[in-house]
Amino acid sequence: MSLYYLSLGSNIGDREKYLRSAIDAIAALPKTIVVSVSSFYETAAWGKTDQDDFLNLCMVAQSDLCPQTFLAGTQQIEKSLDRVRHEHWGPRTLDIDILMIDDQIIDEERLKVPHPYMTERAFVLKPLAEIAQSAIHPQTNQTIQYLLDQTDSGDVVWLKSYIHK
Ligand code: ATP
Ligand code: MG
Ligand code: MG
Repeated sequence: MSLYYLSLGSNIGDREKYLRSAIDAIAALPKTIVVSVSSFYETAAWGKTDQDDFLNLCMVAQSDLCPQTFLAGTQQIEKSLDRVRHEHWGPRTLDIDILMIDDQIIDEERLKVPHPYMTERAFVLKPLAEIAQSAIHPQTNQTIQYLLDQTDSGDVVWLKSYIHK
């Protein structure tokens, strides 16, 4: 049993519906339980800035799936929720990134954990700090709250709590 820390984002169409559907689909993965879900946050696009704002949240799930199988599951969910891969960092209906898995470090071509950009992305750290403030990032040995405090998170705007419907 491992704890999976996930980041979800959407910036096309009914963004909230895509995120909610993704949470439900993750909860329906085999051997997987959703432990907590952060509030919804809105953020201007990162990296490639000429696109609509993102709706983001983080969640923690407990799973007996191995990392590669879990990733295959979340990629299948992205596909089933209309994700079309165009350009890198371009607009998308749904992005599910694995941020951390317990204190594991994985460096494979198709799976890097902790997620290589998580320490510099306020849109990841702000929702994550809400549900995993004291979790330790295993490469820096710093807490999520500490990492968040090092970023400029002023433009990551809290929108509303997640209430399961
Ligand atoms: P970024 O990873 O910088 O947020 P992105 O989410 O837009 O960019 P994607 O197009 O969703 O990138 O994924 C590109 C590839 O990243 C996937 O094919 C996947 O195999 C790989 N990948 C590596 N590490 C991870 C991870 N921790 N979580 C999800 N995908 C990962
Ligand atoms: Mg991403
Ligand atoms: Mg991704």
